[in-house]
Amino acid sequence: MIPVSEPLLGRKEAEYVAECIRTGWISSAGRFVDEFERAWADYCGMKHGVAVSSGTAALQVAVGCLDLEPGDEVIMPTFTIISCAMAVVEMGGVPVLVDSDERTWCMDVGQVEDKITPRTRAIMVVHMYGHPVDMDPMLDLADKHGLAIIEDAAQVHGAEYTGRKCGGLGEISTFSFYSNKIITTGEGGMLLTNDDIHAEKARCLRNLCFIQERRFFHKRLGYNFRLTNMQAAVGLAQVQRVEELVARKRSIGAAYTERLCDIKVLQLPVEEPWAKNVYWMYGLVLDESTGLDAVAFAERLAERGVMTRPFFLGMHEQPVFHDMGLFKGEVYPIAERLARQGLYLPSGLPLTEEQIDTVCQAVRDSLAAWRVARPGR
Ligand SMILES: *Cc1c(COP(=O)(O)O)cnc(C)c1O
Repeated sequence: MIPVSEPLLGRKEAEYVAECIRTGWISSAGRFVDEFERAWADYCGMKHGVAVSSGTAALQVAVGCLDLEPGDEVIMPTFTIISCAMAVVEMGGVPVLVDSDERTWCMDVGQVEDKITPRTRAIMVVHMYGHPVDMDPMLDLADKHGLAIIEDAAQVHGAEYTGRKCGGLGEISTFSFYSNKIITTGEGGMLLTNDDIHAEKARCLRNLCFIQERRFFHKRLGYNFRLTNMQAAVGLAQVQRVEELVARKRSIGAAYTERLCDIKVLQLPVEEPWAKNVYWMYGLVLDESTGLDAVAFAERLAERGVMTRPFFLGMHEQPVFHDMGLFKGEVYPIAERLARQGLYLPSGLPLTEEQIDTVCQAVRDSLAAWRVARPGR
């Protein structure tokens, strides 16, 4: 089976981790946490980096920095991971959803302004599968209405919007370094911001809201979301080779597009003129006219040795939120179609040309076999 995703880890990663073990700096104290934060913040062009234990934790801390009042609203795409909506709900806020853009699969920025109410506090933009959100309209709206922008950049390490790095555009940005992300620490995350107050609050929330002045004295409740020095050691080595990792993703993306672009029933990832796509995962959306959905397509690809993953299921289709009285009866046709018809192909960094050929042949064979089995299609 060709796996969906594998990290690319090398000598430097091993050397840095060995240093942690040799010196005994294995908890969240130690040089690598600071250096990793500094290196990643610099790369994205942000002033502060606050390393945390996951991308989900980074989102919780980011929303925590906004000090929402109960009932405050945060606009976000329905088509995303649950971490986004969960972070808002856990902080007493209300997620307000928009549909997806048909081409980029990111949020439809044209739907955001209509969703702004007197309770709106922030827009959580989520860059999707390696492609940036169209940020300028979002930044303009944030300015006009006094809203914060949280950028979930977990899928776009190294991607750019009009030449500016994703994760360097919002008031707060968040990254995940889970093992399938472009930069990994195994498990891990980071929050970036230019705002000194947000950075201080984020450091406080990450570490049980201990304060400098007095040990074991707390003015607020926090979390243990600390990243270990060992994880940061891997992260620092990864950041030092980020250009290589991003270039690899882009070449995998280009190789797939070259081989699949003539297949009429497949919608492939795009790269808008203002975007640098890093093809975190190479997605496909299967035309409904085929009569084949993503689940059936995935089964056929698996039979041919190709692992895939389905696209997200929108937040408005989640029972857990319906039980809270959220999103009932809401309909987002693009996100619903993406959830039914979308999947992503093996996109791991170590993927070889031969494996890409095998995957593309499996895609063609699956579609051809289906057409034979269903004449007239
Ligand atoms: C992976 C991911 C997360 C969550 O990160 P974890 O480290 O797995 O908690 C959040 N948002 C997006 C868009 C992601 O892709």
